[in-house]
Amino acid sequence: MPPAAVAPPMREIFEIRDADGAGRIGELTVPRADVTVETPALLPVINPHLRTVSPATLESEFGAQILITNGYILYQSEEFREEALERGLADIYEFSGAIMTDSGSFQLSEYGEISVTNAEILEFQRDIGSHIGTPIDIPTPPDVSREQAEDDLETTKSRLDAAQSVDVGDMLVNAPIQGSTYPDLRESAAEHAYGTSLDVFPVGAVVPLMNSYRYADMIDVVRAAKRGLGADAPVHLFGAGHPMMFALAVAAGCDLFDSAAYALYARDGRYLTVSGTDHLDDLDYFPCSCPVCTKYTPEFLRSVAEAEREELLARHNLYVSYQELRTIKQAIREGNLFELVERRARGHPAMVDGYRALLDHAAELEREDPVSKGTFFYLSSQSARRPEVLRYHDRLSRLSVPGDRVLFSEGGDNRRFEETWRLLPPFGPVPPALSDSYPLTTERPERLDREAYEAAAEGVSRIVEANPDIEFAIAHWGWPDSALAALPNAVETLALGPESDHPDDS
Ligand SMILES: [Zn+2]
Repeated sequence: MPPAAVAPPMREIFEIRDADGAGRIGELTVPRADVTVETPALLPVINPHLRTVSPATLESEFGAQILITNGYILYQSEEFREEALERGLADIYEFSGAIMTDSGSFQLSEYGEISVTNAEILEFQRDIGSHIGTPIDIPTPPDVSREQAEDDLETTKSRLDAAQSVDVGDMLVNAPIQGSTYPDLRESAAEHAYGTSLDVFPVGAVVPLMNSYRYADMIDVVRAAKRGLGADAPVHLFGAGHPMMFALAVAAGCDLFDSAAYALYARDGRYLTVSGTDHLDDLDYFPCSCPVCTKYTPEFLRSVAEAEREELLARHNLYVSYQELRTIKQAIREGNLFELVERRARGHPAMVDGYRALLDHAAELEREDPVSKGTFFYLSSQSARRPEVLRYHDRLSRLSVPGDRVLFSEGGDNRRFEETWRLLPPFGPVPPALSDSYPLTTERPERLDREAYEAAAEGVSRIVEANPDIEFAIAHWGWPDSALAALPNAVETLALGPESDHPDDS
C-alpha cells in the first residue's frame, strides 16, 4: 500500500456545471485534443478492422465529441500499426473530437497474456496521438474469490503507480478501478486511483454484471467506487453501452459511457430501446422517430443485404443512445433526474432492482443533491425512499415547534390544538412557512401506496422524538395500519372521514 497522507492533486480538467442527485452535467477538458467534452458523454467504440459507422459520420451526424478505440489492436496490427504511428489517430479517423484508447486489458482477461509492457503500451498510445490513454490493469470479473480480487487489485494499483512515471506528454491517462464485486475493495481501489496524478476513472469489469442484468450489483460497485473518489473525478462506466441503463448510471454518478453495443447488437439484428432490446425479427413497427425508423419499416430492413441492415440498425442504436443522453441532461437541468430513472425502471424488472439499489444509497446521494429543484413527482412506492424525503426527515428533527399541543392534519385544523400543520405523505408534517418550498410542492397521485404513509409516519416520529415535552396528534384519511403502527405511542390519532370524529367538530 502506498502512503495515504499526501493530499490528492486538484483536478482541473473536469468542471461540474449542473447536478441532480449524484448525476451531473460536466465539462471534461482534453488538452491534447484541444477540445472540451460535455458529459454525460457516449464514446462509440471504433473497431479498427470493422467500421460500421465511420468516425466522421459519428461526428457530423450524431454530434459525437469523443470516441474510443483499442490501442492494443492497433499495436498488434501489421496493417494499421505503422500508419497509426505515421499519421496519428485523428487524421486516420478524420475526427476532430477527443480520442480515447484502451490498452489490451480486455485481451489480457480473455486470453491470459499479452505481448507488451505497461510502459510500452502507454508510450505507443502517446505516439499514435491518443488523447486519453490507458495502462494495463487487471479486469477482475465479478464473484471471484476475495483472495484473487485482492491479488489482482495489488497488480492494478502497481500499474497505476508505474503509469505516473511514464512520459505521456499531455495525454490524459485513465486510472481503472477494479475490485470485482467487493465494495470495500472497489472503494479502496478508488481512493488509491484518486491519490495518483492520473486523470479519468473507469469503473472496470462491470460488463458481465450488465450482460446478466445485475443492475443492483452494478450500482453497488459504482457507489463503492464513488465513495473513494472526489467529486472532481470524471467517472467512466467501462463497457456500458446500453441506453436502458444510462439514466440509472448517471444518477449513481457516472459521466462517461462507451458503446460497442450499437454495432455488436446491430450485427445480431438487435434493436436498442430505452427499456430493453428488441429483435428485428419480432418487430412489426419501429417505436422510434429517428431518420432510420421514419424512413424504413422492419419488413424492409429484413429484406435488405446484411451489411446494409447492420449499418441501418447501428444508426438507429446510436440515435437512441444519443437521444437518451440528451434526455438525461435536460432532466438534470430541470432537476427531475430521479423521475426519469423511475420511469426507466418501469421498463424492465432488472432496472427496478437497480433503482432500489440506488435508493439504498440515498443518504450518500442526499449529500450531493441540490436543495431546490423542479416539482417532486411521487411516481411509485420507491419515491418514498428518495434522497429528498430523507433530507426532509432530517430537517424535521431540527425544526422548532411552537405550543404545547400540536396537530398534524390531512384535513382542517381543530381548536383543541394551539397549532396545526399540514400532514403530507411521504414527507410528514409541514410547517406553514415551508409549504411553498421544494420538495413540499410535490405532485402526488390521489391513491398513494402504503410506503408513502409509512414514510410520513417516520417524519412524524422524527419531530416527536425531538420534542418530548409537546403533545402531538395526527388527523388522517384512512392511513394503513402499518403506518399508524409506526407512529410513537404518545401520538393521538384522529381518523378523518364521514363516519369518524372530524377534527373540525370541536
Ligand atoms: Zn430509430
